[in-house]
Amino acid sequence: MSKVLVIGAGGVGSVAVHKMAMNASIFTGITLASRTKSKCDAIAESVKARTCVTIATAQIDADDVAATTALIQSVQPKLVVNLALPYQDLSIMDACLAAGADYLDTANYEPIDEAKFEYKWQWAYQDRFVAAKRMALLGSGFDPGVTSVFTMWLKKHHFARIDTLDILDCNGGDHGQAFATNFNPEINIREVTAPARHWENGEWVETPAMSTKVEFDFEGVGPKNMYLMYHEELESLATHLPELKRARFWMTFGDEYIKHLTVLQNVGMTRIDPVMYQGVEIVPLQFLKAVLPEPASLGPTTKGKTNIGCIATGIGKDGQPLTMYINNICDHEDAYAETGNQAVSYTTGVPAMIGAALMVQGVWAGEGVFNMEQMDPDPFMDMLNQHGLPWQVKTLDGPVTF
Ligand code: NDP
Repeated sequence: MSKVLVIGAGGVGSVAVHKMAMNASIFTGITLASRTKSKCDAIAESVKARTCVTIATAQIDADDVAATTALIQSVQPKLVVNLALPYQDLSIMDACLAAGADYLDTANYEPIDEAKFEYKWQWAYQDRFVAAKRMALLGSGFDPGVTSVFTMWLKKHHFARIDTLDILDCNGGDHGQAFATNFNPEINIREVTAPARHWENGEWVETPAMSTKVEFDFEGVGPKNMYLMYHEELESLATHLPELKRARFWMTFGDEYIKHLTVLQNVGMTRIDPVMYQGVEIVPLQFLKAVLPEPASLGPTTKGKTNIGCIATGIGKDGQPLTMYINNICDHEDAYAETGNQAVSYTTGVPAMIGAALMVQGVWAGEGVFNMEQMDPDPFMDMLNQHGLPWQVKTLDGPVTF
């Protein structure tokens, strides 16, 4: 019996439980819990219609450790899959320790009042997970997640040493809206308005948000502007692959997105500190989220592809200089046809399902808190090919010129 409790009924949670239900021999019992139970029930209906599998649903406020502990105790899952928001990571980890369950998430903890991504809060749980003989797997989405596995697969099979790593995240999808984000708007906007940071020669180099732009021709999408950004896997990769001399993360944004975001920033709508409005305290970014389209609602209209991957340069196993590019291309309309969700949710929910499958089957096992790059990449890479995110790899003529 491999029971799982999935927390969070957004786009990512929806994809993950659909894919779990499609693998019912691995996931013998699935419960989906979230703040709004009606969203869990709607997903359960879709899962039933598409796969004939019945999943249980529950209401939970995952900020409440006692209530989450009680829910885990009543469901008795082997694993809790946290697909709520980064704010809930620590409370769900606490509840897993209290109730006795393993833990997996796709985004690192972030305090609600500070737009700051750091693994330190979750790495601090190492001793408690070891003492409890429990495993926590951090960042089993696409980026972080697949990008770390891609890097370690290149290292395991092709490189004696990786010197530089560029992670390229392109969403070439068009949802037909003037402005919308393709995952949780609050988390997305906090991420892209934070200063850019990359790893170079043993230290972090900080530059203003969206100040470094490069055009890159993405297969399946075409030429797009990509911007240097900070992303959490840079921290864990710099830690677990200390040979890296430089590691950077790039994400594409269209001119329309940048235009809207600039205006929203200039007028103060992306602020995360509370302001008084007619006697009520509101956080502008949370209010903005309430008026923007829900990412889950973009599925029916989004067309185009995502293309996410890594370019690594270093010394190959034969002692010669080597540059390789490994990536996945995912089609928004195909993702929607299969699960009712667009490709950004799909490319995150599928790796969450795969990480969960490897954990509940004991293929990936351990006691303590782990990042993806600490695990054997091979079984995960095989499952990407089998479960809807096939990857391709090629040798480039030389290092990137940007
Ligand atoms: P959504 O906003 O669509 O969904 C989040 C869900 O979590 C909602 O159902 C929400 O409930 C629920 N939730 C929020 N707070 C609580 C709470 N206190 N208790 C219980 N449930 C709660 O987000 P996405 O599905 O787009 O993203 C989910 C996660 O995946 C995020 O952490 C995001 O950062 C991460 N992500 C990771 C990526 C990767 O590649 N690694 C890429 C994209 C996303 P309600 O419906 O009531 O608001």
